[in-house]
Amino acid sequence: MLEKDYLSKNPNEDGYFGDYGGAFLPPQLIDHFKKISDLYEEASGSESFQEELRGIRKHYQGRPTPVYHAKNLSAKAGGAQIYLKREDLNHTGAHKLNHCMGEALLAKHLGKKKLIAETGAGQHGVALATAAAYFNLECEIHMGEVDIVKEKPNVIRMNILGCKVVPVSHGLRTLKEAVDSAFEAYLADPENSIYCIGSVVGPHPFPKMVRDFQRIVGTEAKEQILEMTGKLPEHVVACVGGGSNAMGIFSAFLEDDVQLHGVEPMGKGTKLGEHAASLAYGSEGVLHGFKSIMLQTEGGDPAPVYSVASGLDYPSVGPEQAHLFSVGRTVLGSANDTEAIDSFYELSRLEGIIPALESAHATAYATKIAKDHPGENILVNLSGRGDKDIDFVVENFGYPE
Ligand SMILES: *Cc1c(COP(=O)(O)O)cnc(C)c1O
Repeated sequence: MLEKDYLSKNPNEDGYFGDYGGAFLPPQLIDHFKKISDLYEEASGSESFQEELRGIRKHYQGRPTPVYHAKNLSAKAGGAQIYLKREDLNHTGAHKLNHCMGEALLAKHLGKKKLIAETGAGQHGVALATAAAYFNLECEIHMGEVDIVKEKPNVIRMNILGCKVVPVSHGLRTLKEAVDSAFEAYLADPENSIYCIGSVVGPHPFPKMVRDFQRIVGTEAKEQILEMTGKLPEHVVACVGGGSNAMGIFSAFLEDDVQLHGVEPMGKGTKLGEHAASLAYGSEGVLHGFKSIMLQTEGGDPAPVYSVASGLDYPSVGPEQAHLFSVGRTVLGSANDTEAIDSFYELSRLEGIIPALESAHATAYATKIAKDHPGENILVNLSGRGDKDIDFVVENFGYPE
């Protein structure tokens, strides 16, 4: 069990969750981040800010999203009953808009004109471009040239939404280079722009802000499942890339007697480079401005990572995920590529819900553990819908028998 009022006491003033977090920044950015942090505390504590956010959640995003009892999936799994928190029904089709709307609202309060970020698969880019359109802000998304070719539909979406997509042509031309490029663009004009991080990662205050904006998922889900079943679920399951959808749903159950499972992608195997299971195989280090547990080469560089789900393909996790795991409040689960693909089809065919490949890792794991827990309930965060993945899955894996 964690201390009482854990959420309001963590992170501490310096942005640490236990041993992890902090803000490792170039000197010229320290004051800017301090200002963002101070103004975030002030704004988020104000009734008008919360009122505006509540209105956006309800009238624009379409919240609350439902919790759905997946009876057919539960019967097939044989054991526990599986419930899905339907973030796939959130506007733009995933949980990411929850923090993008929050970050953009804050940018507006800070008087910023431009939102800057990187994107890998394009999901964060699309969500942020959506938020920018809503708030009438400029939006600039940095993306590796390799990803631009691979994720064409999302590039088109960003263009339609009026966002500028900046191609990044150095190094491996994927996510890591896109982060560097976006950060440089932000460094060039921190007065008028704000860097909007895509998960509970990065320097303080971003892991805290993104968690707070995602808490809506857990708050709603707890109320909904209590109403449906009359009790708390015994288990809550979420996939972990950076950890934002997991923090969103876990946050409501931290002080309860509920087992919290973070599911990491095991990709193709257990060798470095074949997976992105940062907590299972990583060690302490600093990356992208924060201290956490990460997959590293012997030389201390971020290791190459792989998962069939691009959104889980990150060599670290947010500092709070590292903390909750290291103190034993969360347990680790895993699902590999094959299990995720099987679950993608299983959920589609049994329930009529096509999940994102990221979310399919969570449902794969939930169906694996269901057998061991008859009479219990498992609440899964279905973080997004799978429309973005259908071409890729069918071309690479075909249809099941
Ligand atoms: C980006 C993404 C994830 C992974 O990010 P987290 O910060 O770990 O939540 C998971 N699911 C979907 C649908 C995503 O788009």
